[in-house]
Amino acid sequence: MIRAAPAGIERLRVNLGGAVQGVGFRPTVYRLATGLSLSGWVRNSTSGLVIEVEGRAERLSEFLDLLERERPRAALITSRAVLQTEPQGSRLFEILPSVEAEPKSVSVPADMATCRACLTEINNPADRRFEYAFTNCTACGPRYTILQNIPYDRTNTTMRAFTMCPACRREYETPVDRRFHAQPNACPRCGPHVWMERRAQGKEGSPFVHAAAVLACGEILALKGIGGFQLLVDALNETAVERMRRHKRRQAKPFAVLMPSLEMAREFCALNPPEEELLLSAGAPIVLLRTRAGRKLAANVSKSSPYIGVMLPYSPLHHLLTKHFPHPLVATSGNLSEEPIATDNEEARQKLFAVADAFLMHDRPIVRPCDDSVARVSRGEPQLLRRARGYAPLPVVVPTSLPPVLAVGGHLKNTVAIGAGREVFLSQHIGDLDTLESRRAFERAIQELCRLYRFKPELVACDLHPDYASARWAAGSGLPMVRVQHHHAHVAACAAENGIESNYLGVAWDGTGYGLDGTIWGGEFFLVRDDRFDRIAHLRPFRLPGGEAAVRQGWRPAASLLFETFGVKEMTNEIPAASVLRPVLERGVHAPWTSSVGRLFDAVAYLAGIAEENQFEGQAAMNLERAIGDTVSAEAYQFDLRNGVADWSALIADICADRQKGADASQIAARFHNALANWIVEVSESTGVSDIVLSGGVFQNGYLSERVCNLLEARGLRVLTHRQVPPNDGGIALGQAVLAARCTS
Ligand code: ZN
Ligand code: ZN
Ligand code: FE
Repeated sequence: MIRAAPAGIERLRVNLGGAVQGVGFRPTVYRLATGLSLSGWVRNSTSGLVIEVEGRAERLSEFLDLLERERPRAALITSRAVLQTEPQGSRLFEILPSVEAEPKSVSVPADMATCRACLTEINNPADRRFEYAFTNCTACGPRYTILQNIPYDRTNTTMRAFTMCPACRREYETPVDRRFHAQPNACPRCGPHVWMERRAQGKEGSPFVHAAAVLACGEILALKGIGGFQLLVDALNETAVERMRRHKRRQAKPFAVLMPSLEMAREFCALNPPEEELLLSAGAPIVLLRTRAGRKLAANVSKSSPYIGVMLPYSPLHHLLTKHFPHPLVATSGNLSEEPIATDNEEARQKLFAVADAFLMHDRPIVRPCDDSVARVSRGEPQLLRRARGYAPLPVVVPTSLPPVLAVGGHLKNTVAIGAGREVFLSQHIGDLDTLESRRAFERAIQELCRLYRFKPELVACDLHPDYASARWAAGSGLPMVRVQHHHAHVAACAAENGIESNYLGVAWDGTGYGLDGTIWGGEFFLVRDDRFDRIAHLRPFRLPGGEAAVRQGWRPAASLLFETFGVKEMTNEIPAASVLRPVLERGVHAPWTSSVGRLFDAVAYLAGIAEENQFEGQAAMNLERAIGDTVSAEAYQFDLRNGVADWSALIADICADRQKGADASQIAARFHNALANWIVEVSESTGVSDIVLSGGVFQNGYLSERVCNLLEARGLRVLTHRQVPPNDGGIALGQAVLAARCTS
C-alpha cells in the first residue's frame, strides 16, 4: 500500500557493503532513524546492509552524516550507494528479517574485543552476568571463530548448541537493546561455561581462583581463548619463563605479553596515543612497543627484539583471569613450535599435556584456529605484521575488479586469499608450511574460505618457486594456474592496498624468494609501468654456502662476502671455521646465488659481532636494529652503484676496518642501516616516478622504514607502505591475486 506522502518528504535507499553484519549495525541504524523521527526499514542481505529511510530532506542528510560518524566500531564499509526512491508514506521504522538472495559479496565479521559496556557488567556483582566469561553484545564478542556458515545467524554459529533463556531472548529480540540480534548472546543460565583441569582431575570452586594460583606458582596455564588455546605463564618469573621456553621448544624467539590493563602496560613500555588506541581497538592485536626505563619483565621474555609485543585482555575470560592474577603474563599460541594452534578440548589435552600444568577450559567450540594478530604503529598509523584474530577475514579493497581468483600465498607465514570484484578476502595467518599439520591447516583454510563465501575460483595464483608446498597444491588443483614472482607479488600487494596499480617504483627486500632467473632474490627494485615489471636495480649477488644452513648461520654469508671482497686468506683469518667452505666457494657447489638484503643483514650482524645463529627468521636483523639503540647519526657506508647493481664490497671492507678500529656495534649498525636507506633514495631519484612502494620482511625494521620514508618525503616523493596486510610473506597472497587477474584480463 503506497500512500501519498506530504510535500517535502523524501525517501532514500542506502546500500552498504563490507563488514556490516554482526557488528551491531541494525540496532545503530534503528536508534539513529527513530531519533530523527524517520520511517523506513533496515535489513541484512547477502550483499550487505540495506536501509530505506523516509522523512524531511534535512533530516535525511543528518541521518547520512550520523551513519558515517556513529557507525559501529567494528564496521568496515567498503562500498556505499545512496539512491532516491518514491516516498511511501510509511510511519514506522522497522528491522526486517534477512533476505536470502543470490550471494554476491558479504563480509564475514571478524572477532571483536570486549566492549566497555560488557566489561562493566562482568565487573558488577549485582549484574546477572557478573564474572560471566561469555558476555558479549552486538559491539563485541566472537564472530569468525564461531561461524560455521553465512549469513551470520545464531544457527550458523557454534552457539546454536545453547538455547537462550527467556531473559537473553528478550534482549535478543528487542530492537533498542545492545544485544538485539547479538548472535552469541548468552548468560550463566543458558550459555557456555568455564572449568579448570589440572592434569587429569577437575577442581571445585572458582576456576579463576585456581587458575591464578597455578600462575602464582610459576606453572604453565593453557587457556582456551577466542581463536584457540594459549599458553600463559608469569612474565616476571624468569624460572617460569625458562620452563615455558623448554616446554615449547622455543629458545630465543621473543614472547608476547598479556598486560592486565593499559595502566600496567604504561609501567613497562613507552606508549604514544596511536599505540594506546590500537591496543584498545576492537581488533585488539599484539602491539610491538618500545620498552622504557621503568619496571622490567623477566629478562628471557624478549631477548633479541628492540620491542616487546603487548596485548590487553580481549575477551571476558582474559579480563576475569587478569582480574584474579593482575600481573603481566607471557602469552603464546597453544602449540608445539610452528604447528597450528590447538582449538579443540580433547586435542589440547593430548597435544599440550607435556607443556601445560593446568587447563582453563570451556564448552563453546571454536570453528577455526585464529592466532593473535601482531601489529605496530609506524609513523602514526597501525601496520599489521600478522593478520589473524580481529582482522581475518575482513576484505582489502583493490583498485580494479578481479575475476574469481584463489591465491595460495608463499611458503613461510602463509595466508591464502580469494578475490572477487574489488574485494580480496584474506585467510587468517596459517604459518610456515613445513609440517604436515600446517599443510593440512592450509588446505582447510582454502576449503573453508571458499565454502564460507560460496566461492568458486576460476583461476589459481601461486609462487614461482617449484618446491613450495602451496605452489604444488596449486599445480594439482586442476584450475588454470598463474605463477607470480615472489617479489612482484610483494610490491603489488602494497600498491593494491594503497589503491594504485602502476607507475611506481617497487622496492622488495626480504630473506628469500625465487627469482625469474632461478637465483634467490631479495634485494630488488622494480619500475612498474603499464603492467611491466622492470628489475631496474638489485643487490650484487653473492653465494650462500650450504644453502639452507646459511639462513640459520650468519657466519656463512659473512664468509662468502669476505671471500669475494678479500679472498680466501682474509676470510679464514676473520672466520677460522670458514676454511671448510673454501671448496664450496671456489667451485660454487651447493652455494646458490642470492641478492637478498635479508641475508646481507645476517652477514653484517655477524661481522659486527652481534649475532651468532638465527634461531628464527629475522633474528640477526632484529639484533642489528636493536644495536642502534639511541644512536643518532647520518653517517653511512656506501654501496657502489653501477648499472643498477649495488656492490657491497667497499661496504664490507669498511665494516671490517671499523671493527679493527674498535668502533662499537651501534655505530656499525647505524652506518649500515643508513647505507641501505641512501641506496633506496638514490635509485628512487633516478626513476622519475613519484610513488615509492616498500614491501618485504626487511621493512619490518622500524629504523630502516622510518629513515627511508623521511628521506624520500623530504625529496617530495610519496612513500606507500603496508597497513592492512603484513610486509612479510603474510601479504603476498594479496599481490598474487591482483597480478594473476591482470595476466588474464
Ligand atoms: Zn559488548
Ligand atoms: Zn541466558
Ligand atoms: Fe618474501
